[in-house]
Parts: sequence; structure tokens; C-alpha cells
Amino acid sequence: MTDVDVPVLIVGGGGAGLTASMLLSTLGVESLLVSASPGTSILPKAHLLNQRTMETLRELGLDETIYASGCPPRHMTHSGWYAGFAGDHPDAGRRIAELESWGAAGSTPEWAAASPQRPTNLPQIRLEPHLRRRAEELAGPDRVRFHHELREFTQDADGVSATVLDKDTGQEYRVRARYLLGCDGGRTVGRILGIRAEGMRDVARMVSLHITADLSAWAKDPHVLIRWLWLPEAGVMGTLVPMGPERWGPESEEWVFHLNYGADDARALDDESVVADMRTALGIGDHPVRIHIISRWSLEGIVAERFRDGRVFLLGDAAHRHPPTGGLGLNSAVQDAHNLAWKLAAVITGQAGEALLDTYETERRPVTSTNVQRALDNALNHLATNNLISGSGSGWAHMGRLWSGEPRDAEFARAVRRAIAGQSMEFNEQNIECGFIYDSAAVVPDGSPAPDNPDPIRIHHPTARPGHPLPHAWLEDWHGTRLPVMDLVGPGRWLLVAGEDGQAWIGAAAQAAAALGVPLDAVRIGHLDGDYRDPRSTWTRLRGHGADGAVLIRPDRVVAWRSPGTADDPYAALKPALHHLLAR
Ligand SMILES: Cc1cc2nc3c(=O)[nH]c(=O)nc-3n(C[C@H](O)[C@H](O)[C@H](O)COP(=O)(O)OP(=O)(O)OC[C@H]3O[C@@H](n4cnc5c(N)ncnc54)[C@H](O)[C@@H]3O)c2cc1C
Repeated sequence: MTDVDVPVLIVGGGGAGLTASMLLSTLGVESLLVSASPGTSILPKAHLLNQRTMETLRELGLDETIYASGCPPRHMTHSGWYAGFAGDHPDAGRRIAELESWGAAGSTPEWAAASPQRPTNLPQIRLEPHLRRRAEELAGPDRVRFHHELREFTQDADGVSATVLDKDTGQEYRVRARYLLGCDGGRTVGRILGIRAEGMRDVARMVSLHITADLSAWAKDPHVLIRWLWLPEAGVMGTLVPMGPERWGPESEEWVFHLNYGADDARALDDESVVADMRTALGIGDHPVRIHIISRWSLEGIVAERFRDGRVFLLGDAAHRHPPTGGLGLNSAVQDAHNLAWKLAAVITGQAGEALLDTYETERRPVTSTNVQRALDNALNHLATNNLISGSGSGWAHMGRLWSGEPRDAEFARAVRRAIAGQSMEFNEQNIECGFIYDSAAVVPDGSPAPDNPDPIRIHHPTARPGHPLPHAWLEDWHGTRLPVMDLVGPGRWLLVAGEDGQAWIGAAAQAAAALGVPLDAVRIGHLDGDYRDPRSTWTRLRGHGADGAVLIRPDRVVAWRSPGTADDPYAALKPALHHLLAR
């Protein structure tokens, strides 16, 4: 293998690395991705893709493909809690409670208002091949190399020198890059740099079985995606998730079953015992089941002490590892890449100063630390609910207290249902998914306070306040074509959006773009005047400025700056803001 000189070396071909590769390609930045495994993930792992991630996939031209492969909305509007699954007992599989989840697959008014994209569900094992194909298409020949492993690297003032092993030929080669992105799930890059991770480890030991089985006779409730099963005979909790691939809901051909074991339970290490436990737990006797893979993992919630070391950045699981509860791991990985890619492109092409790259950690570390804590709290609440049920008894008679209607059982039944209702912090965490706020040198505050929020987990207030993600509004062009405001932000381009009377800002934007050599588009949105119509007044409600004001949007669709009205000299107001935002 010949040595390679490339602006960006990406280490790891999971969600973080493949997204970084695709985004850098669309921004015109050459990269080389190396990934140690022979191919994409062989484990189902992550499956929920939230609205912000689907916006990134829309930008990459992948959203329709992912929706077509993923779970149809009608099979993912709820999560359900059940007493067992199958078996002889008359209460086996009885539903204890259900929770509307992910805004009923994005259809509730709040979720539909937050984004043009609905959330979906597609296991990582099926998602990553789509990401890989697109990354290969965009990056060009031989720029996405699986079965190539980073062995070591050093950095100096100008770049990074890395040694990569081609595991097919056994030959090593050198890569020289200006920047290295550690997207390796935390296996190599952080360790070489001596970056420690802080948080909780080994919260619980989990075993996951990926199986093919016809469970349609027992899987009730076609609208339920994730089934939390209390298994009265075993006194434990299991989780059952359909995997498609062709049919979803109760007819799904494949499933994942997660079992929770105690830290010292030797049964967890033995495949035969695990399969036997799964059969007993589900109550399916010798019903035909084909096992694809059994994986063992531990629940942890940790964050790297820093996300940047010189010319090296940590993204995804390399920077933060979450319990899966809440589906924040892969989604955060995609958003890390989305935050960093345009900044790297701006620095590499000379539009921005090197200090812009510092804002990656300033912006992403607080947000992902919150995500890790949320995922931990979600997991701990499941365990607490489990303790509430199994801590006070076991077996079907104990379970029957949930629906006996007897006054002596009322308090127990209410406590269990209350604990399940509390899990809405996992299944309706809309503000965690969509409402993250950035506070860094890549945002110019306008002095307005953050919206009052009585529930910063569940309640999302879309707003065009600087630091917030671009709020969603459906617009129309003058031919009547409908489009979301996000589509006005082109790859690597800034967008100034002025009100209907904000013509002066449009001229100022053209002047500032020319003076600074920055790709900056400018449009007016209004009712009767402007480049785009605001037919439902959504944008007018959200923009937080007058008809002669403006907002400036970053290439990653984060609001960077806002002016409530016109200025004496709009160019003199806009140019220094851009100058500051680009660390010039
Ligand atoms: C059971 C389970 C369910 C989950 N559910 C969800 C969910 O619903 N939603 C969600 O968002 N998250 C979920 N997660 C978390 C999610 O799977 C991870 O957060 C996600 O995979 C992180 O992506 P990544 O690209 O950072 O790392 P990874 O997917 O771990 O990819 C790392 C890559 O780096 C490569 N690599 C490692 N070392 C080297 C090296 N030295 N050289 C080259 N390559 C290297 C590896 O081969 C691998 O390809 C779940 C996890 C589990 C275990």
C-alpha cells in the first residue's frame, strides 16, 4: 500500500466516522476513512433515529432510503410493558401499561412542528451499509477502507502522522493528515492520547440475542415498538424489539431480545444457558428460533475529559458512551460529526481561523454530557421499576396484584403505573433530542433570555434565538412549491434570513460575503413580500425579530446571530459578527 497525504484521516467506520466522511465530501474536503472491522456492524445495536439525525440524512440525500428500509410509523407509536410474553398462564402477555412514544412516531403536533423529518427505527446492522455505500459514492474510489486498522500516530504543529495496517495484506502504510478524527468507539485514539473518560461503568451486565423467529402469535399491539417484559417466573425484566427487515410489528421476521444479568451471574457467559433463559423468559418452549448472534455488553455512562487534543478530535462513542435507553448514542455521534465537519471545512479552506475548532468541544461536551446523564437516568428508572415489581414478590399471583382491583393492591398498582409513566422522560424526550443549545464563540448572543421551560426534557420550544437549532417552518416559493426552511441552507453555506422589510440586510450580506470570502446566501421570508412565503406564519412566529430584522444561520443550521430590526449600517453590523463567528 502506498502512503497517503490527505487533509482529514477518519478512524472508525461506524455512525460517527461514516457521517463525518459523507459530510466532509459534500463540503469538498478530501478524507480517508479507515476502519478495523472487515465490514459494517454485525450487531443490531442502535435502532432509533431521531428527528435531528433524520435532518442530517436528508441533507445527505439518504432520508428516503432510510425511511423505506425502516419501521413504518404505525408500528412505532408506543412502547409497552407486559407481564411475560407467551406461555400457559392466562395472564401471560397481558399488557400492564403503554406509553405514546417519539411523538407517536413524529405525528403529534409538537413533533410535526419541530422538524420536516419524522423519527424512524432501523437497526445499525441495516443502517450502516446505507451509510457506507453513500460515503463511498461521495468520497470517491478507495477513500473508505474497511479492514484497515490505525496502529499508532503522532502529531506536530502541522499535522498528524499515522501508521495504518491493511489487515488483508498484512502491510503497513503511513498517512499524513492535517487532522485526525477519532471515531473508533473509544478503542484506540483516546487511549494513545491518554484521554481519560469519567462517569459510571458496569451499571448492569446485558446479553442481547439477535434471532429469527415467528413471534406473531404472541406479540400483541401492532403499534408497539419496544416491549418491556416482566417475567413473573424469573422475576426479571427482558426487552424485545422487532428488527424487520421486510415486515415490522408483530409479523417482524427478526427480533432482538435483551436480558439483564447480575454482575456475578456465570450464566450470562454461557451461550446455552442464555438461550435457555431466553426461551423460559419468553415462555416459548421449543418454538423454532434461529440465533444469529449473542452479544454481551455493559451499561455505562461516561464522557471523555476532553474532546480535542491538538489536531485530533474525538467523536461518537470515542467521546461519550451511553446506556441505550433513550437512543442517544448513535444520534449524538451523528450530531458530533455534523457540528465538526463544517468547522473543519471552513478552517481547511481558509474561511475561518483555527480557534473555530475549539468550539467543537465547547458546544458538544455539555450537550453530550447531558445526553449521557439522561440515558443513565432512563436506565436507572427501568431498574427502579423492576425493583418495585420484583422486590416485593414474584410469580403470577404477585403480578396479578396489578389488576386485582382489590383495595389492598391499589397502592402497589398505582406505584408501578406511576413509575412506568415516569419513563416518558425516555420515550418523549423531545427537548433533549431537538432542543440542545450551544453557547460558544461560534454564536453571538443577542441578550434575549432562553425560553422559560417547566420541563427541559420533554418540552421543546423551537426558537430562532442564537445558539438554538434552526426552528422548522414550511415555506412556499412563488410557484407554490412547499419546502422546509432547512432546505435553504446549502452544504457549507451560511444563510441570512431577513424579514419582509429587511431588504437592507440582503445587500449587506452580499457585501459581507464578498469582503470576507464566505459562502453566504440571503433571502427574505414574508407574507406578501420576500423570496419565500410564510403561509402559516410559522416563521414569523418563531423568528423573534421584526419585519426589518434578520437572523444568521450557520452551515450546521444553528442560529448564530440575530438583529431585532434594521441597523443604521447593516453591513457594519453584520461583517464584525461574521468575522467573530469565523474566529478571524
Ligand atoms: C444494545 C444497544 C442498543 C443501542 N441502541 C441505540 C439507539 O437506539 N439509538 C442510539 O442512538 N444509540 C444506541 N446505541 C449506541 C450506539 O450503538 C453507539 O452509540 C454507536 O454505535 C456509536 O457509533 P460510533 O461510530 O461512535 O462507534 P462504533 O459504532 O463503535 O464504531 C467504531 C468503529 O471504529 C472501528 N475501530 C476501532 N478501533 C479502530 C482502529 N484502531 N482503527 C480503525 N478502526 C477502528 C471499529 O471497527 C468500528 O467500526 C445502542 C447500543 C447498544 C449496545
